[in-house]
Parts: sequence; C-alpha cells; structure tokens
Amino acid sequence: MDAPLIDLVEEKKMILKEYGGLLRSLKKNASPQEKKMVRTAFELAMESHKDMRRKSGEPYVLHPIAVARIASEEMGLDATSVICALLHDTVEDTEVTLEEVERIFNKEISKIVDGLTKISGVFDLNSSIQAENFRKLLLTLNDDIRVILIKLADRLHNMRTLDSLKREKQLKIASETSFLYAPLAHRMGLYAMKTELEDLSLKYTEPDLYRDIAQKLQEKKKERAKFIADFIKPLKEELEKRGFNFDIYGRPKSIYSIYNKIKHKGVPFEEIYDLFAIRIILKSASVDKEKSDCWGVYSAITDIYHPNPDRLRDWLSNPKTNGYEALHTTVMSTTGKWVEIQIRTERMHEIAEKGFAAHWKYKEGSSDNAMDEWLEKIHGVLSNTDTSALDVVNDFKHELFSEEIFVFTPKGDLKRLRKGATALDFAFEIHSGVGKKCIGAKVNTKLVPLSHVMKNGDQVEILTSNKQVPNEDWLNFVVTAKARSVIKQSLKEDKKKISIEGKIRWSAN
Ligand code: MN
Repeated sequence: MDAPLIDLVEEKKMILKEYGGLLRSLKKNASPQEKKMVRTAFELAMESHKDMRRKSGEPYVLHPIAVARIASEEMGLDATSVICALLHDTVEDTEVTLEEVERIFNKEISKIVDGLTKISGVFDLNSSIQAENFRKLLLTLNDDIRVILIKLADRLHNMRTLDSLKREKQLKIASETSFLYAPLAHRMGLYAMKTELEDLSLKYTEPDLYRDIAQKLQEKKKERAKFIADFIKPLKEELEKRGFNFDIYGRPKSIYSIYNKIKHKGVPFEEIYDLFAIRIILKSASVDKEKSDCWGVYSAITDIYHPNPDRLRDWLSNPKTNGYEALHTTVMSTTGKWVEIQIRTERMHEIAEKGFAAHWKYKEGSSDNAMDEWLEKIHGVLSNTDTSALDVVNDFKHELFSEEIFVFTPKGDLKRLRKGATALDFAFEIHSGVGKKCIGAKVNTKLVPLSHVMKNGDQVEILTSNKQVPNEDWLNFVVTAKARSVIKQSLKEDKKKISIEGKIRWSAN
C-alpha cells in the first residue's frame, strides 16, 4: 500500500486558518507593535517546526497555535503570553536558542520561554524525578505566573489530543493531569479548564465508567431539561418583576464530579440528585452595586423556595484565594429535591471562567490580593530544599484542593487557612518562630490544645514559651504545607545537632 499522500497546499490552508482565528481573538487588546511580534513568533514557529509532525500525523505547528488560542480565547491572557505560547516548544525541540528569542523579541519573552523549557520533559516513570519536576514547575509560579498558565494551556491541548498516543503514555499523562494540573488550574481559579482536565483524564484512566456516566447523563437529558424549566419558571418571573437584568440556566455537573460521588460516597448514579446546578448571571449597573444585587436575588429566590441554612456560601464578603466570588445557596424544590443555585455578576462570572490570573497584574510590585499572599507562602515552602521533593509535592497537593476557612487574630486580622487546620497550623501561619514555640492557644477565649481543629470565624490567640521545641508528634495533626515543612526542617536540624554532639563526645573520650 502507498503511504498516505500529504496535501501540503491543504495543510498550509489549515494552518493559516488556525492562525487567523488566533489573530481575531487578539484584536481588541493588542497594540500594532504586539501584533507584529505575534506574526514574527508565528513565522518562527512555522519555520523551526516545519519538518516535525505530531503523533496524529498533523503538522507540529498546529499545536503551538492551538496553545496560543487557548491562552488568548479561553484564558484571556495578554499578547506576550500568546507570543510565548507560539514559541513554547521551539527552544526545547528545535534549533532555536534562547539568545535568538531574546534578540528577536525581548528579555521578558525569552525569560518566559526559558521557564517553559525548564519544566518540560516531565514524563518520567520514576516518581521522585517526577516529583522534582513538579517542584520545578511549582517554583516557576513566583517568577512569572504566565509560565504556569501557558503550561496549563499546553497540557489542556495535549489532553484534548491524547487519542493518538499509545495507551501507556495516555495513562501516564492522564494521571499526571489529575494529580497536579487540574488542582493547579483550580487554584488559579480556572474552573472551566479544571473541569475539562478532570473529565478528560477520567476518560483515559477509567474509560468504562466514564462512558457509562456520559451515556446515562445523555439518556436523562430530556427529563432533566423539563425539571429545570419548571424549576426556573417562577424564579424568572419574580426576578423580572423586581427589575433584575439577568440570565438564568441549568448547568450540568461534570462527569468527574459525578464519578467522585459514585466512587467515594458509594451513591449509585440513579440516586444522585444534584446532576446540575442553576446559575444566575446578573448585569449590575456598577461594581459597588454587585454585592447588594446578589443578595437581592437571594432574597427573591428564598421568597419562592425554602433555603437550606447549612448550605449558604458567601464568597461575596470573603472571596476565595483564587479570586472566586459568588453566592451559593441550596433550596428545596417542589418535587422534594434539593437544588443548588449559584448567583454571580457578569464580572464575577468572567473571573470564574477565565481565571483570576488574567485579571491581575503580571508584574511584581505592590499588590495585596490573597492570590499574591498565597504565592508567596508556597514559594517559601517549595524553596525549602531540605525536604524531599516527593514530600513537598504531597503536602502541597492537599493545599491546592482544600477548602478554606477564615480565622481572626486577637487584633481582628483575617487569616485564610485550609479546612481542618489546627491551632498549631495557625501559629505557623502567623510566623515560623511563633509556631515552633507554641504551647497552646485560646480559641474564642477558651483554652484549647495545639491539635484543636479551627472553625470558620474563630478568633485565636497563640500562647508560646521559649522552652518549647517542635516534636515529631506535631506532624500527626498539622495539615498546612507551611507548618509541615517548617516542623520537618527543624526536626532534621535537631537530628544533625544530636549526631554532631555524639561525635564530639566520642572523640573526646
Ligand atoms: Mn507543547
């Protein structure tokens, strides 16, 4: 049989079409100068990848173009990111050098491309090497957040095109994705991307279950649509009557989240009631009206359906670290089923879909948002090279996915901690020195042990003593990455000291 003929003219057309799509998405927020640089980057990528093909057989350059489109269209990133996305595999896989990139473009771009080059090649079966690569990846968070955002776009495109790889490689990439990249996307506030990454990895790691759930969802689609329409109708009328400008719709939950319920809570598919959530997107007249508008909608909803007081989530007053703002409530429908409703404004919705990173300054310098605080904190943990990379990644992974609670200092300063954090975690959160000397705490003026688990809204005072030193037992109840890493480090230092003292005694005898 003949080898399949490659129609070069047709391919060229396809590449230009994809590139045209990229240019259109850039239109509004790129200067003529930047557009010129995008063109140059496209040409450089075309030229340097010209003899390369992906496993699927298509021209390689389609991959960097697709990654650039994800960065621009789905994440709302800037022109610099688009240029770097186009170049992201050049230095790694072709003759192009970093010096060239810097000469043709600029220092900023070559630095990002360098970051992207350093963290490639994560596909190693040895888990400690993999962990070390993860750590490198995470460390780039602090250099330029765009490195990690482009890496996420790269991963998303690889996941979307995983079909053409061998089964073993599919499994490897898919499990890596659910282990690290999906949690990272979550932490960056990229909810749409997180969901897609999770669903795609499930598709390869648990193909039968995935297909089964997808099929059942499809079968019940009509029934669900009818339920949602009936549920929404009175809400819509009431909100219109009160003069709100809004969009309301039902949104199916992801296959992955349904899978989780089946797998971890043992609920059969037929008994999962919350296969969807209702979403209300509000047009607010101005930013300072947003909060009261959302509560106004809440008020209208609860005049019609009875809310579950335990399921009210107010991320308006205290946005999540990743920037997520919304009001969530769960109400009782007329059919006896609980239904979750998410209320947000258009601005909040944009942040939830595209990620907070797109909205916040790339440059270092003064800024006081929770995301920056968080980045600083994890950078401290990650740069502690004394701990094994595998340990760091494990501790860190919990940090990525955990829910947050808010706790106050005696002076009323608000601190964010992960759910399940203890008084000792809080002490380390204030300062490593305070944590090491901590002997107890007062929570809401009551004396509690170090292992006391804190709740939202607690006010905590830490008691210290100069005689206190960290001990092994502490690792049994601290949950934050920071506390774990500081304790492990001081235990290590202690051991070193003991062994040095031992040696001295030995030689003195
Ligand atoms: Mn790539």
